[in-house]
Amino acid sequence: MSRNVKILLLIGGLVFALVAVATCIRLFHNQPQEISTSEFINLIENGQLTKIHIDGDRIVGERKDGSGGVTTTSSKTMPLVIAAIEGQNQTIDYDEEVSDNKGQWLSSMINILFLVMLVFIGYTIIRSFRAKAKDGGGGGGFFGTGNMTQDKAVRLDGQSKKTFADIGGIDEVLEEVKEIVDFLRNPDRFRQRGARMPKGCLLVGQPGVGKTLIGQAVAGEAGVPFFSVSGSEFDEMFVGVGSARVRSLKKKLKENAPCVCFIDELESLGRKRGVTHSGGQEEKQNTLNQFLQLMDGMDSDSGIVFMAASNQPDVLDPAITRAGRFDRHIHVPPPDVRGREIILGIHIRNNGVPLTEDLDLAEVAKITYGMTGADLENLVNEAALEATRRNLDIVDFACFSEAADKVQLGLARKSLIITPEEKSIVCVHESGHVLASYNNPAHDLPQKVTCVPRGPGLGVTHFAPDSDRYLLNKEQLLAKIESYLGGRVAEEVIIGQITTGASNDLEMVKAYAMAMVTKYAMGSLGQMSFGKHAGGYLGQDAVERDYSEQTAQLIDEQVRKLVGDCYLRVRDLIDAQRENLLLVANAL
Ligand code: ATP
Repeated sequence: MSRNVKILLLIGGLVFALVAVATCIRLFHNQPQEISTSEFINLIENGQLTKIHIDGDRIVGERKDGSGGVTTTSSKTMPLVIAAIEGQNQTIDYDEEVSDNKGQWLSSMINILFLVMLVFIGYTIIRSFRAKAKDGGGGGGFFGTGNMTQDKAVRLDGQSKKTFADIGGIDEVLEEVKEIVDFLRNPDRFRQRGARMPKGCLLVGQPGVGKTLIGQAVAGEAGVPFFSVSGSEFDEMFVGVGSARVRSLKKKLKENAPCVCFIDELESLGRKRGVTHSGGQEEKQNTLNQFLQLMDGMDSDSGIVFMAASNQPDVLDPAITRAGRFDRHIHVPPPDVRGREIILGIHIRNNGVPLTEDLDLAEVAKITYGMTGADLENLVNEAALEATRRNLDIVDFACFSEAADKVQLGLARKSLIITPEEKSIVCVHESGHVLASYNNPAHDLPQKVTCVPRGPGLGVTHFAPDSDRYLLNKEQLLAKIESYLGGRVAEEVIIGQITTGASNDLEMVKAYAMAMVTKYAMGSLGQMSFGKHAGGYLGQDAVERDYSEQTAQLIDEQVRKLVGDCYLRVRDLIDAQRENLLLVANAL
């Protein structure tokens, strides 16, 4: 919900609260005080009451001193009260309707007033949005709702300061985008040869691999403005707002051409029809159409280059990726060990982090397996913080190692108090992982094991491969399942009791076994995969079932057998290596 709508709702809420409080005060104030009949008669006889009227068997009067009304209920003693009133030569008003009518009239007035205010606020909101949707931004609007439909493209102050020197580990990607820089710098070179630059370039990769950074560096190298807007910014609950934002963006780009327009989370803007997402399907389609028109309307002479980033290219509408739109797709991979070393060097240089002379960044890169550029930037900062905490003037390998643990395993929760029994269970459990992996040549060697709670777990065993790996064979996948089962089996064999500590391990066991059977055809169901998988290494993201109930049963049987066999192997191993397991557990 936008800020302006929130303000309006807040004002509406406040008005409502004020009216409610005022009504309560008024009602409370007008409520006559209930007293006994004898007290009422006393007040009459002392001449302290006026405006007396009878309402059924209730008699109400007002104190002459202005301190409020009084009332008494009196059916049997009514003649006595009337006699007392007549004795004082006072008149009785039997027309109680008068006062009630007054009350009703007042409350009706308040209700009508309240309704009128609500209608006014609603009308103003709608009018404001309609006006904005028509003119595509600018102008006044109630409480500044004028900003509602303006595109939220962020222009970096001045030119982008990033260059290709700030990017490491993805040289092939930079080679691809260098052409765009050439085009932005010298479009005539392309035009003379009748070449047209691809209008849109889609960068695909997991979060943090540097997609936005590439866009900034392209603009920085070409010396043109860089506009960045998120696809989700076009996603509004109000009709016409998304389309109006696209029109406003178009205006801004034309005014600043040549320039780079970077659209992050393209899938929020250009999601396929029929792929589930929250409502407003038609409105989203309108916004997408408007955006496609914007792209089509920009010829290559306009000097506007669109770059976009997406983590889920498979959900993009084909209309957005067809030739002439985002037709150049560039995969941005996470960096390999050499790339990680370069990226570490870049961030150490950019942040001016002082290092010990003997620090080998290649060694640091080895302990950062699987980290993206964003993780590495974070790691450098964490290492510098660690050095500060330790009061060191220069950052050494130990600081990087601690920082890597923090980034990969989570923060050490040293203050968490766990009982000695629980601690020994955790030690046995982690030792089970160590033993199952250490004794399996197909598994990576355990790199670090701890029973200090880190992140969500009470203990962690961390593995790092000797080199980066892009393929896993069947033996390696089975070794992973056995390693996960090691913790549970160790509890069973050594403690004679199983605990909830293995729940995450068991989830992973199932994910690996399922992926082996359904995604990689490593069971005995033939050479085919089962179910549609939306990506993800393990295939736990199977989103659609495309097989029969009978096949589902076969899959379940295969998965159960595969895990069962792994369990028996681990059980045999831990039974045989009981002594070694206790050694590791005691050391922990
Ligand atoms: P998301 O998909 O979440 O938007 P992204 O792929 O766009 O992520 P960026 O925002 O470009 O990632 O990267 C975040 C930060 O990580 C960058 O500002 C940069 O400091 C660092 N970074 C990422 N990749 C690299 C790289 N290859 N070289 C140097 N720094 C990098």
